[in-house]
Amino acid sequence: MILVTGGAGFIGANFVLDWLAQSQEPIVNLDKLTYAGNRENLAELEGDARHAFVRGDIGDSALVAALLARHRPRAIVHFAAESHVDRSILGPEEFIQTNVIGTFRLLEAARHYWQALPAPEKAAFRFLHVSTDEVYGTLASDAPAFSETNAYEPNSPYSASKAASDHLVRAWAHTYGLPVLTTNCSNNYGPYHFPEKLIPLMIVNALAGKTLPVYGDGQQVRDWLYVKDHCSAIRRVLEAGAPGQTYNVGGCNERANIDIVRTVCALLDELRPRADGQRYAAQIGFVKDRPGHDRRYAIDARKIERELGWRPAETFETGIRKTVQWYLDHPDWVARVQSGAYREWVHKQYVES
Ligand code: NAD
Repeated sequence: MILVTGGAGFIGANFVLDWLAQSQEPIVNLDKLTYAGNRENLAELEGDARHAFVRGDIGDSALVAALLARHRPRAIVHFAAESHVDRSILGPEEFIQTNVIGTFRLLEAARHYWQALPAPEKAAFRFLHVSTDEVYGTLASDAPAFSETNAYEPNSPYSASKAASDHLVRAWAHTYGLPVLTTNCSNNYGPYHFPEKLIPLMIVNALAGKTLPVYGDGQQVRDWLYVKDHCSAIRRVLEAGAPGQTYNVGGCNERANIDIVRTVCALLDELRPRADGQRYAAQIGFVKDRPGHDRRYAIDARKIERELGWRPAETFETGIRKTVQWYLDHPDWVARVQSGAYREWVHKQYVES
């Protein structure tokens, strides 16, 4: 049994689905179901006794303690977070609440549970914290990629809150001996990605005939990893990572945002041509840059490759094709997640500001 937090979100849901496709080991899935959490992502697990879904907050110490006592997991895989940089700029409070205080409370609950375990289970227990490459700040265009020893220089409220949570996790290992593992991963893309993030936003807007809003000059560079490859890295770290260690995870796929948008447009031209014969790229529109926008992130993933033998299965070309196809095949999912909270957010982001 493992406890997953945030398993109804983008990466968490992919992780839960992949885990149960490959293993009989059950999962307790604790998720608050914020705007980003969606039970529908897990619809295929309806009635599956290996998956227990609990709606609740990682900051609810009594609830987490009760779940740990009842299910006695051998590991916690911690995805739950507020995850969108733009939202963190408009309203940082939730980011501090969940990413910092929530992680602190989860660590405390995990520590008390772990300390009371009998020796063999205590030795086997792991707390795996899922984090981001954004904690390292921004890179010059010619600087080497981020390795695990880079200094933390977070620039946005989101990355600062994740950096704070990474530090708490580290301290709980150093001070209390909690057997933690941390992964710092680059940008993910793939199925179930909420359409506020770059790739799904572009696909959804393109198909709706709307503008494809590209920040600034579109030359911000990110490393991209197909979400299933991130999930396989997390499974590998959980299985073989050394307690106390951090592992950078990335796809060695550095791309400028504008090139990502053009790639999505070209795939849509091929897979779902516009009725009027025009190219989707005609919908690209440059908008005011995000404040404090980091120019470049790049991940050096050699440690996890060397020490744990992990490699991504997808190239960017195969992963992005699968992703665009998934969105074309799931219009109902897109329509449902775009209702309610999503509409309010788009209004705030693109109309009010
Ligand atoms: P997401 O926003 O899609 O999902 C987050 C999930 O956490 C949602 O289901 C939400 O309901 C849940 N949640 C939020 N606050 C909660 C709380 N207080 N208690 C319980 N559940 C809560 O995020 P994601 O993109 O799937 O990211 C998951 C994790 O991976 C995050 O920690 C993020 O920092 C990290 N990460 C993301 C990326 C990326 O590209 N998306 C890259 C590297 C690391």
